[in-house]
Amino acid sequence: MKKHILVSGAGIAGLTAANFLAEQGHKITLIDRSSSFSKAGFLISLKSFGVKIMSDLGLTQNLLAASLPSETVHFIQTNEKIIQSIDYDKMHENIERSVLISRGGLHHVLYEAIKNEINILFDTTISQLEEKPEMTKVTLSNGNILDADLVIISEGLRSSTRERYFTNYQLEDFNTLYVGGRLKQNHEKKVGVFKVYIDVNKMLSIYPIASDEIAIQCYIRSFEDVSTLKNNASSILKNAFDDYNPEVKQLLDNLLDEGLFFMDKMGMVNAPNLINGRLVLLGDAGYCPTALSGMGASLSIYGAKALTHFIAKYPENILTACDRYNRLMQPIIEKFQTNAKNNAASFLPKSEADLEKFVSGFRAADDTAIQQIMTEPIVLTKDQENFILS
Ligand SMILES: Cc1cc2nc3c(=O)[nH]c(=O)nc-3n(C[C@H](O)[C@H](O)[C@H](O)COP(=O)(O)OP(=O)(O)OC[C@H]3O[C@@H](n4cnc5c(N)ncnc54)[C@H](O)[C@@H]3O)c2cc1C
Repeated sequence: MKKHILVSGAGIAGLTAANFLAEQGHKITLIDRSSSFSKAGFLISLKSFGVKIMSDLGLTQNLLAASLPSETVHFIQTNEKIIQSIDYDKMHENIERSVLISRGGLHHVLYEAIKNEINILFDTTISQLEEKPEMTKVTLSNGNILDADLVIISEGLRSSTRERYFTNYQLEDFNTLYVGGRLKQNHEKKVGVFKVYIDVNKMLSIYPIASDEIAIQCYIRSFEDVSTLKNNASSILKNAFDDYNPEVKQLLDNLLDEGLFFMDKMGMVNAPNLINGRLVLLGDAGYCPTALSGMGASLSIYGAKALTHFIAKYPENILTACDRYNRLMQPIIEKFQTNAKNNAASFLPKSEADLEKFVSGFRAADDTAIQQIMTEPIVLTKDQENFILS
């Protein structure tokens, strides 16, 4: 039986779910609080099962067309000594090649695939939810009232609907600030060859993505609250890399003066139950693993496919479908959140001693060890790929 499903939050997770639900013929209402979408945004590397599911949606060509060149990444010390250089082609040799893309670019691919089939209500949020025995009565901020068989909450890390209607979750402060930006600037660097500086309590990545454009991303450990950080973004960024070489400092100055940049503090969402009645959390809203897992988008896409897989499998019982989704996701979420914590300890070392230890281990790693380090943390078991519960 076809259902009426409200999806609140048309980001990576919400749009992927909408794409799969539309294929199944459900009635979908998709809302987003923003007034329009942008193709810009920080860079992400879509990896492993995330790339595979985009292919299941028939979107590989569009994904590749929107991707950015990625050839080699050099992990380096502040004195420019290379710790480890890794070719993207070799990085995940036995699985899907990762795709470098802006978050907005990935979002656009998913949006284009669905925009003529579903009407997206912009500038719209959930005002009120009322649980009834057979459905949820939803009042939207535009005054519309609808009866939904299921409400998917895919509003990202700081979801306000989760905050109002779920009590059993934690938004863990990861005490790390990220700044992601893009700068239009002619340069002599090789496009697709990236530098990642590893340092105590900070990491800086420089991505020449076109002959006239450089993307910059950095993570800085910080214990200040979000608003203090946002108010002092420029000085924090300048101070953090004040002792770096003049070229890097100039690049950061140019970014602050002329570039487009975004910043936020990382948070990890721990929700032991992704379901509350007919409400279900999807993507970062339910299980944000932080940027340090490098897998948030893939996990959002996977979660969307898993949820819609179970909705198709249990057409008469949407609550059973949600229960299966929750059971499948919990161990997977734990794996990727643990990886993020491990990555934070490695790539954002807390002291000179930790930095030295990491650098010497990473430098000594041979091709096989690198392959393992890069691949093992980002793959699922065959059962998980096929949504089989153990
Ligand atoms: C710096 C950085 C680097 C990253 N790098 C990677 C990477 O390399 N690889 C990777 O896989 N992932 C990466 N990620 C993670 C990835 O971007 C996220 O996991 C992914 O975007 C989450 O998708 P989502 O749909 O859950 O949330 P979002 O993409 O945040 O979308 C949420 C949507 O909900 C809307 N919304 C918010 N509140 C409401 C509301 N109350 N009502 C209605 N709509 C609402 C928003 O407007 C938005 O459209 C990175 C993240 C960051 C910050």
